Amino acid sequence: MRIVLVGPPGAGKGTQAQFIASHLSVPKISTGDIFRDNVSRGTELGRRAQAYMARGDLVPDEVTIAMVTDRLGEDDAQNGFLLDGFPRNVPQAEKLSKLLASWHTKLDVVLELVVDDDEVVRRLSGRRTCRRCGRVWHVSFDPPTKPDVCDVCGGELFQRDDDSEDTIRHRLEVYQQQTSPLASFYADEGILLGIDATGPVEEVTERALASLRRFLR
Ligand code: ADP
Ligand code: AMP
Repeated sequence: MRIVLVGPPGAGKGTQAQFIASHLSVPKISTGDIFRDNVSRGTELGRRAQAYMARGDLVPDEVTIAMVTDRLGEDDAQNGFLLDGFPRNVPQAEKLSKLLASWHTKLDVVLELVVDDDEVVRRLSGRRTCRRCGRVWHVSFDPPTKPDVCDVCGGELFQRDDDSEDTIRHRLEVYQQQTSPLASFYADEGILLGIDATGPVEEVTERALASLRRFLR
């Protein structure tokens, strides 16, 4: 199954992606995670992406698309994938369609996680991420047993630099201007599936899986 998750920053894409991907036995491919990994390792790709990420702007399309093309070409993505954070604008979506068509395949479904801006700000301001395994936590909504320690792997939890109030606001504007048009782009293709992404994490996962099953039947 080839799935894209869309939704504003903080909608819960990364949180849901880990459960949905493992349920469907496909790799979760998060462009944000790949960029952050490259920034922390100081690679050329990380150096090119860093300033855009710090401001909350999109990394230029040519950089992002080249990275995603390489990743989707890897063995584990040949029978399906769950993309989290890509595409982020219509040119990226068009490029993805062309790439998949050149491989004689296409997306099955685009799952949109719908939450309002106030909830996004609450979620992002308390988000903590594991430095080692990437698991996402929240100080109030999904707290780890010990503060700042990941229950899954024991890694150290950190707060993302781009989760400051000003950058959150800017990322929401970028989402409205550049990413939200993807909903009508994919609705026109007949593959958009929107779900209410509020409520406990497990309920949202159940909702997502139930909708996906119904959609694919
Ligand atoms: P995204 O990948 O869309 O930016 P995340 O998955 O990182 O969003 O989630 C943002 C924050 O919101 C995290 O701290 C996460 O623990 C929290 N979160 C995710 N889903 C829910 C939910 N259903 N209810 C409350 N908090 C949530
Ligand atoms: P995320 O982890 O999805 O919130 O992404 C964090 C940051 O990485 C974004 O604010 C962008 O700067 C960058 N990024 C992630 N995915 C993309 C993409 N598809 N296109 C451009 N920039 C991206």
